[in-house]
Amino acid sequence: MVSLNRVGKTGSQQAIIDLLRISGPQTQASIARSTGLSPATVNNVIQSLKETGIVDVNKINGRDTSVSLVSRTGILVSIILGHNGFTVSIFDFVKQKRINFENPCIGESLVRNTPHDLVKFLNNIVKDNIHYENKISGIVVGVQAPLNTTTGAIQSWAINRMPAWGDISIGNFISDHFNVPVIIENDANLATLAEWTWGAGVKTDNFINITCSSQVGGGIVLSGRIFKGSNGMAGEFGHIVIDQEGPICFCGSRGCLSSLVSERALVRKLKLDNHYQNEISLQDIILLAKKGDAACQRLIREAGNQIGFAIANIAKIFAPEMISIGGELSLAGELLFQSIQNILIEQNLEAVSPSISLVAAKFVDDAVMLGSVAYFLSEKNQGISELPMWMIKQDKIYNQIYA
Ligand SMILES: [Zn+2]
Repeated sequence: MVSLNRVGKTGSQQAIIDLLRISGPQTQASIARSTGLSPATVNNVIQSLKETGIVDVNKINGRDTSVSLVSRTGILVSIILGHNGFTVSIFDFVKQKRINFENPCIGESLVRNTPHDLVKFLNNIVKDNIHYENKISGIVVGVQAPLNTTTGAIQSWAINRMPAWGDISIGNFISDHFNVPVIIENDANLATLAEWTWGAGVKTDNFINITCSSQVGGGIVLSGRIFKGSNGMAGEFGHIVIDQEGPICFCGSRGCLSSLVSERALVRKLKLDNHYQNEISLQDIILLAKKGDAACQRLIREAGNQIGFAIANIAKIFAPEMISIGGELSLAGELLFQSIQNILIEQNLEAVSPSISLVAAKFVDDAVMLGSVAYFLSEKNQGISELPMWMIKQDKIYNQIYA
């Protein structure tokens, strides 16, 4: 697999890039104050970063200028490899344009989630957009399954999530076909990176993000870095056991958070207990709850209680400044958050982590894609201080629920 090389930077360059990545656009005076570098050094470094296209310098009033990180890194192809298929977004940093492929088709046929079909589909994108061919700077794959960091394949115990990928080393496989740098990462870590870079967790040093939708996942930022643990598996909050008598989870345990509050779990509970005959989705459940359906409201409150127990335990271990809840379930809003908050009070979280704030994540169904951009740029030692509009996908689910 081709690996991304970090661009060598002097200490002062690195300090300025890190500051701009974490704190957004700054004046040169504030950069000097925050980094402790002299105004002359800051000026020299900014001029050199400007010449290499890493920062833009814009006048904000008669005297001051604002410095921000920018990227003209060519084209990034982001892929989310999930148990129900895959989605692809192309980020063209030169044309400042994003193209999304949500239900990829080749001709009339929906693409199956197999290595062969993914390569065929990506080849078609390159063929149909021939001007992209030599400009793909890299590919990031967000995988909705735990990864074995040694082999780059999906963990063997979870392979039934995506059986077609078997023991294939995903990054090597894609890199062999396209000969560009490929990064593979767990989707929840990418979502956390997006929230930390541009979303709810901006400017925090210790931050936890939990995503609740078709599955439950999470990511941890400790002391300003994504914490992956010894084997990349840290933050698997979906597999925190909440109810030892609960349903068997695909991980082999019982009563994991994911087996209780994932979309499938909530739909199953509603169907079993309330004889809902029609097909129903998490989005329907949230909409019904907002319209006053008592059973759906109860379901969401109970999910909130269970997430609350998990958060209380997580917070007692990591004492983060902030925990954000994302994913489709977070759109249930007050109903969900109030029940989480009640459990945190009941568990006396105040005693351990008095200043913790619980917030809704900013990016509902786009966090993984945006996280892939953040990850890729940080690997190239670049960044974007403020998320430009062209990179943001219109959030269809959000619009439907809040229309
Ligand atoms: Zn589990």
